[in-house]
Amino acid sequence: MTLSPDTLLEDARSLSGDIADLRHRLHREPELGLDLPRTQEKVLQALDGRPYEITLGTDTTSVTAVLRGGARRAAAGDAPVVLLRGDMDALPVQEATGVPFSSEVDGAMHACGHDLHTAMLAGAAALLAERRSELPGDVVLMFQPGEEGHDGAGVMIREGVLDAAGRKPDAAYGIHVVSSLLPTGILASRGGPLMSASDGLLVTVRGAGGHGSSPHSAKDPVTVAAEIVTQLQVMVTRQFDMFDPVVLSVGVLRAGTQRNIIPETARIEATVRTYSAASRDRMTEALRDSSGTSRPRTASRRTSSTSTNIR
Ligand SMILES: [Zn+2]
Repeated sequence: MTLSPDTLLEDARSLSGDIADLRHRLHREPELGLDLPRTQEKVLQALDGRPYEITLGTDTTSVTAVLRGGARRAAAGDAPVVLLRGDMDALPVQEATGVPFSSEVDGAMHACGHDLHTAMLAGAAALLAERRSELPGDVVLMFQPGEEGHDGAGVMIREGVLDAAGRKPDAAYGIHVVSSLLPTGILASRGGPLMSASDGLLVTVRGAGGHGSSPHSAKDPVTVAAEIVTQLQVMVTRQFDMFDPVVLSVGVLRAGTQRNIIPETARIEATVRTYSAASRDRMTEALRDSSGTSRPRTASRRTSSTSTNIR
């Protein structure tokens, strides 16, 4: 017996109402980081009654579900293993979309689409379970919390997700929805890296506070921070090959409390995206080099020092 793509598609279509409903319920109740108990509960409900071996995370609310294929030709230890991963966490964003299933949690929203990923993986769980007897190997479903900078995948790997089926997966698939880059209904992939590495750049500029009327007797960290932001963009375009893309965006620039007071410190937080390990290493070196950790260069100030943390 072989899997028929036609019936698979029909069966998927027949599940679409349930999947959309689960997605809406997840969207209404977004949770952040590694602790997603309500989300975990909904995933467990979706898997309930299906023939999965389920393991819950201990340091995070992950769900690992293993389906044993019923058509193994290879010896048990050699049957293929495929892992499918869906991330489940939301973002600390206030929803203002006005959709009928809007977030009911203040300051949290499924703005990255992980509610869709969770619902899609639950849909795959249903389709695969119905075809269990036809599967020549095992499937591991990885419902992952903490994708938004919380190392949820790392936690799950340390807790054994890659050994959940008794041997390492031969292939692992992850998928991310996009709302604006592609028309609806298009699935895109390519050889090589498809999504970038994501690192954070955290910079604190330390000066010496003072009165805004007498900047000469203070050490103003604001002007240094402003110069750093500009120089970071210059660095990206002048020092990196445009055919090996690098993106650096400053999302936080914070200093001071009153317009006539020069603050003690200024804070910069940026996200850094790279596609190759070489660019990532080079970026780490370039940022350390220009931050004052070795020798101040970007801001070339005698008046202030910077401390940089790349993560
Ligand atoms: Zn995402």
